[in-house]
Amino acid sequence: MTYLRLTLEPVPAASRLATLAKLLPPGQWDQLRRSVYRQASYRCQACGRQDRLECHEVWCCNPRTGYQWLTGFQALCRLCHEAKHVSFVRDPSRRAALLQHFTAVNRLAPEEADGYLADALRRQQELDQRHWIISYGDYNLRMPALADLQQRQRYAGLSRPRYGR
Ligand SMILES: [Zn+2]
Repeated sequence: MTYLRLTLEPVPAASRLATLAKLLPPGQWDQLRRSVYRQASYRCQACGRQDRLECHEVWCCNPRTGYQWLTGFQALCRLCHEAKHVSFVRDPSRRAALLQHFTAVNRLAPEEADGYLADALRRQQELDQRHWIISYGDYNLRMPALADLQQRQRYAGLSRPRYGR
């Protein structure tokens, strides 16, 4: 298989409820994603576009051990980010559009892209068949105490950033 600038990255569906973006207080997540964009020189790290960026969490899943851990972050344009998670996209026309973007970014033949998609869908099914233990790597230590979080949410309930994750 050839080197891909944009890979498809299935993650266990249940873990989407426990992303760092959802767990970190908004201010901390904001700081983190801004530093990721800065390090990427404000370009999508897959296709290079200077579009509105989103911060992708790179997760590694080991089906043998059942451990899922956060390995890093990537600045991605919205389209590349959505394409990464294409295995969660149910709408056939949206999926086709994302696959077209994936094909173009990686300069693949359409049948090659179909092969990658089939592989991603199969891996998605495999991942969702078991329980996972999630590790946030370096960010394990950065999680605030629950009481702190609740207090902050109570007093800063309206401070969620307006822009995308
Ligand atoms: Zn992109």
